Amino acid sequence: MNIELWQKAVEHHGHKCVGLAFGFRLGEEAKKIFNEGEKIHCMMPVRNCITDGVAGSLGGSVEDGTIRIDESLKNFVFYAEGDDEGWAFTQKKMELPEGTDPIAAVLTYDREMVVTLEPVDLM
Ligand SMILES: [Zn+2]
Repeated sequence: MNIELWQKAVEHHGHKCVGLAFGFRLGEEAKKIFNEGEKIHCMMPVRNCITDGVAGSLGGSVEDGTIRIDESLKNFVFYAEGDDEGWAFTQKKMELPEGTDPIAAVLTYDREMVVTLEPVDLM
């Protein structure tokens, strides 16, 4: 993962937390799905620490329209600008051994352990 970008996100958010880490991880995984140069957008159900994490990774914000809050959603939907299909990311419940740092786990565990992905129709 991009440590420098993560540190910037922490700085901007004001503290390190699991929500920020989860959002950041979502953004980093989304970047792997779409082609370089495509403008990635995210829709999410609530505005919280996760929002800042996604923003920190994608380099956008709610204000500039990169992220949209939609309370009817149950998961996190990423799509490239202009596309009518995207990917829904759903958080997985992680069973962590005692003493595990949940922030490090969310940032570094295999994607399959952190989120599930499914294609979603945006029309
Ligand atoms: Zn936070």
